[in-house]
Amino acid sequence: MESLIACLPGDGIGPEVTAEAVAALTAAARIGGHRFEIRESLMGGAAIDACGSAFPPETKALCNEADGTLLGAVGGPKWSDPALTERPELGLLALRADLSVYANLRPVRPYAELAAASPIRPDLLVGVDMLVVRELTGGIYFGAKTRTEDEATDECRYTKTEIERILRMAGCFAGERRGRVTSVDKSNVLETSRLWRATAERIYPDEFPELEVEHLLVDAAAMHLLSRPADFDVIVTENMFGDILTDEASMLAGSLGMLPSASLGDGRNGLYEPIHGSAPDIAGKGIANPCGTILSAALLLRHSLGLSDEATAIENAVAATITAGYRTADIVSDDAAPVDTHTMGAQIVRRIEAA
Ligand code: NAD
Repeated sequence: MESLIACLPGDGIGPEVTAEAVAALTAAARIGGHRFEIRESLMGGAAIDACGSAFPPETKALCNEADGTLLGAVGGPKWSDPALTERPELGLLALRADLSVYANLRPVRPYAELAAASPIRPDLLVGVDMLVVRELTGGIYFGAKTRTEDEATDECRYTKTEIERILRMAGCFAGERRGRVTSVDKSNVLETSRLWRATAERIYPDEFPELEVEHLLVDAAAMHLLSRPADFDVIVTENMFGDILTDEASMLAGSLGMLPSASLGDGRNGLYEPIHGSAPDIAGKGIANPCGTILSAALLLRHSLGLSDEATAIENAVAATITAGYRTADIVSDDAAPVDTHTMGAQIVRRIEAA
């Protein structure tokens, strides 16, 4: 199989972690007998510096032509002045809009060996394996905004169509997993949440009668996520609640550096990136954890290229590398010596090739 993969290293630690993910993709291509053309392009602050635009036309053309897009991270103090008209984060929003991705998926499956790196009690982490599906294009982040000196408003808006498509996508994933969906809203006070709840109460029994469905208010969900995390299978929620709950869920895995994400729409092309940012505090030191980006590359293989076996080979290689005791600084325990980004990546590649 021949595929074109767009790779946007971005800023800070982005180029360090994507280099390891590219090596993992290349190894996966070798074991599966595929040919991946992995073409790089500028994105974020690096693109602003080079050509004045956070999402240049060449990058847009590449991502549209590609079968899937892998992103490192964008942003950093150099480009963080809100008065700037061209900012890395705006480039990322434009990229998501351009690819028409509306669902952000974050699988959270903590490794037993890293339980000590999580602030959550180890016994509560046993059996945790959840997928958080966050709506990405609607809600309060994209509503009309007003601001005077002493008053500000943010409009929260959702259409039935936007809610239906994300609930359906979450339902399909639940059907392929353990068959449970938890729909999270704030229907006791928000009108958009009442529309969300009514839509979920119609769609799931009508179209997914085999699923076990739970509805939770977001404040209760925030609590249950820490008190009974192993009970969740698929969690589906709107944009802002998802933004907050996914960061909370990431703590179950111990480090931001371990977790991948996928942003999907109705087509096959998707955007795949680790959940962390550009980590300017450690950029250039070669100590960043590449696992989240390598696992994002696995999601690209599964969801955009349909290569489940190769995706699983990468995921198994990451797990085996952790089991063998390799740790970057963010997940190392007190008595062990951490390895650098490239050593961690190379150990994972070695295990993919042995698959
Ligand atoms: P961050 O995720 O970059 O870093 C938070 C902390 O986690 C830092 O201490 C960092 O060193 C550590 N960390 C993050 N990734 C790591 C890894 N792979 N290995 C080891 N340690 C890791 O969040 P921040 O500091 O709030 O943001 C820095 C910049 O990144 C900002 O400009 C922000 O806007 C941007 N950002 C971008 C994205 C994205 O590109 N999708 C997401 C979040 C933040």
